[in-house]
Amino acid sequence: MTSAEWICTNCKTTNRTFVKPGTTRLRDRCITCHKRHDVVPGERPIRWAATAVK
Ligand SMILES: [Zn+2]
Repeated sequence: MTSAEWICTNCKTTNRTFVKPGTTRLRDRCITCHKRHDVVPGERPIRWAATAVK
C-alpha cells in the first residue's frame, strides 16, 4: 500500500489515506467536513489532487 495526501477543497484540511499501487482514482471523504471528493494522482507521488463531488 502507498499513502496519498489530498487537500479538501471545502475546508482545506489535509487528508491522508492508503491506496493500492496502481490506483488511478479513488473516492474519499474529508475527515473534518465529510465532503466527498474524487481524488487522482498529482504531479508528485504522495500529493494527490482532489475535486469535490457535487
Ligand atoms: Zn473538508
